Amino acid sequence: MSTHDRHTNVMILGSGPAGWTAAIYAARANLAPMVLHGPARGGQLMLTTEVENYPGFEHGIMGPKLMELFEAQAARFGTRIVQAWATEVDLTKRPFTVKTATDGDFTCDSLVIATGAEAMWLDLPNEVRIRDAGGGVSACATCDGAFFKNKELVVVGGGDTAMEEANFLTRYATKVTVVHRRDKLRASKIMADRATKNPKISFVWDSAVVDVLDTNGNKKIRAVVLENLKSKERTEFACGGLFIAIGHKPNTELFVGKLDCDAKGYLVTDAKSTATKIPGVFACGDVQDSVYRQAVTAAGTGCMAAIDAERWLEANGAGH
Ligand code: NDP
Repeated sequence: MSTHDRHTNVMILGSGPAGWTAAIYAARANLAPMVLHGPARGGQLMLTTEVENYPGFEHGIMGPKLMELFEAQAARFGTRIVQAWATEVDLTKRPFTVKTATDGDFTCDSLVIATGAEAMWLDLPNEVRIRDAGGGVSACATCDGAFFKNKELVVVGGGDTAMEEANFLTRYATKVTVVHRRDKLRASKIMADRATKNPKISFVWDSAVVDVLDTNGNKKIRAVVLENLKSKERTEFACGGLFIAIGHKPNTELFVGKLDCDAKGYLVTDAKSTATKIPGVFACGDVQDSVYRQAVTAAGTGCMAAIDAERWLEANGAGH
């Protein structure tokens, strides 16, 4: 790769709806953007099944297919796509530098951060041990559901993700029990109704999973320990799999101490803009959005970031 290939007007970190949309807009503005993405190309939609609420697809579309279309559209307009894990960014001087684990350093006049968010875990010691051994603890029903045919499963969480996962898992499981820490779901009415009406799904309210059990350390889940948060009573609940659906955390490790984060850890951008506190650095998608977190809003802010970057480059005599 020549020095020229290592520099770009607009570097986009991340390949979810925000990243690809930023790429489409920047590429159509003749800015020859580069998308740098890690191994999880396509972001969170790669882990979902049917997306029913992305406008333009009357009958829905599978998440991975939607991401394939986004990428193809970005590529069609000349986006350079590089798979490399970014390990460090230097935002103290321009051009900015993005260091990667395997492909050396890249520089850019403007940076669009679209690194998204990822699933949170309960982080119980046995959860981690059994999860890492592939023993039946997962945060992705779409990825792992098929491994749990004819099992009784537990899903933790009360949001849309938990309802979606529980519903999806009933394709395989004999029974799905949703464990929620309150007595009211956070999920939207349509998702909650779908789950409560599903005869294979039942609910355990006001309860937390406080441990994951295997048999003689064989790292294969056999039960979870539930604690009723009101009575503090603990019970063993037999199950063949545990799916954790308690929300997501933004992927901001590269930017800690360099850019401002809010109380939940999401990158802070100016009101009605994707600008961060560093001129020329923009953030879009779930990494800066703890409120809406939808594919369509991520795509919308990706568009905004590309337009913001284009205008900033123009005003600063770069990007030609
Ligand atoms: P949410 O933050 O909406 O929900 C997380 C759930 O997990 C809450 O019920 C929360 O409880 C519970 N929870 C959080 N931490 C813990 C913990 N440590 N222990 C036990 N329970 C915990 O996240 P989701 O991933 O469900 O949804 C994120 C966004 O994505 C939402 O805006 C949602 O609407 C959207 N989404 C939309 C879908 C669709 O429309 N098809 C599908 C999936 C997600 P509590 O309620 O008490 O806070």
